[in-house]
Amino acid sequence: MPNILAVYARELIDSRGNPTIEVEMHSDTGLISLAIVPSGASTGEHEAIELRDNDPRRYSGRGVLKACNNVVETIAPKIIGFELDKQEQFDQLLIDLDGTPNKANLGANAILGCSMAYARLSAQSKGLWLYENLDHLTPNTLPTPMMNVINGGQHADSGLDIQEFMIMPTGIELFSEKIRAGAEIFHTLKKLLAKNGYTVSVGDEGGFAPQLSSNEEALDFLMQAITEAGYKPKSQINIALDAAASEFYKDGFYNLKINGQDVKATGEQMVDYYAELVQKYPIISIEDGHDENDWDGWKHMVAKLGDKIQIVGDDLLVTNTKKIEQAIQTKASNSVLIKLNQIGTVTETIQAIKMADKADWTSVVSHRSGETEDTFIAELSVGLNTGQIKTGSMSRTDRIAKYNQLLRIEERLAS
Ligand code: PGA
Ligand code: ZN
Repeated sequence: MPNILAVYARELIDSRGNPTIEVEMHSDTGLISLAIVPSGASTGEHEAIELRDNDPRRYSGRGVLKACNNVVETIAPKIIGFELDKQEQFDQLLIDLDGTPNKANLGANAILGCSMAYARLSAQSKGLWLYENLDHLTPNTLPTPMMNVINGGQHADSGLDIQEFMIMPTGIELFSEKIRAGAEIFHTLKKLLAKNGYTVSVGDEGGFAPQLSSNEEALDFLMQAITEAGYKPKSQINIALDAAASEFYKDGFYNLKINGQDVKATGEQMVDYYAELVQKYPIISIEDGHDENDWDGWKHMVAKLGDKIQIVGDDLLVTNTKKIEQAIQTKASNSVLIKLNQIGTVTETIQAIKMADKADWTSVVSHRSGETEDTFIAELSVGLNTGQIKTGSMSRTDRIAKYNQLLRIEERLAS
């Protein structure tokens, strides 16, 4: 097997204009791989640490030169000469070198950049696509996308409490036809919003960010767009929500608008509210319906809605097997959102997916709101057969890059 000849790191820019790290890795056989790390806005407090320079003179303190330096000065001398295609051993070396439980020392961004670049270089060295070398599963399947066509919360100034209103083409077979449905509904929604006097500019994940009066109004627009685009709600297109509720939870209450009224709701009242929405709309998945530390709220949610819908833990579980195990034991969700940079290595990410799978949970591979042209997550969703991916709306190249890579993979799998 070839081994690592050289490793570099550089500061690039993400989709929000913030710096992020790219790692470049060379093999002794002349191959080169690149990997760029994404970054969240509504981040979970238990996520692995993203190392920022905190130097106010550059990028308002958001520079990543320290993380780059950690790759070149600390990580590189330990991994040069390391044999390729030994992902678990490679990632363990990085974890040990960092020595903290949350990668605070070298930075999860520095570590993940190396881990992803290594996975890519390993696949290349065997003449394989990344998805083919992540877990050697055959046959590989393409995921159903959750397309975030209306953006709220921390990702837009729409004023909507719920962060993501997503369409899921569950009743359409081919991936390329799912994309087509998403695009047609997206364009229909744009026309409908404009006709009703709303702005059609987009938020961080490429969905529209209209100043609607309520979550219900957003859902009504979605329903109308699905139908007017010529699709059938429920049998063809379903709805998924990410409430990102940690963002509106304070002192034991959820502060949000329900049917246009400002309310302070308890965890249990939130469950009743979600149950009403599920009753009224074809919602099949709700992510982060409760705060990341409100485990009781989560358990109520599973008890009441767990047999009807997918209840996805993002900030609650932060792609961390310790948290996932706790949630499996206590029945606090039935699905996990998978974000590489919440945990910081490819191996730990795969372990999270496998733990969920073993418990008969689903997993949804996800982008971050701050993204780049890197398409690693598209390959991860196919390589691990997760069946679902959340990677934004039908605009912004940072989102579309993932869909386009999946379209290429679809073609390759078909042939
Ligand atoms: P983030 O949002 O990347 O800003 O955390 C995505 C999500 O909450 O799922
Ligand atoms: Zn989320």
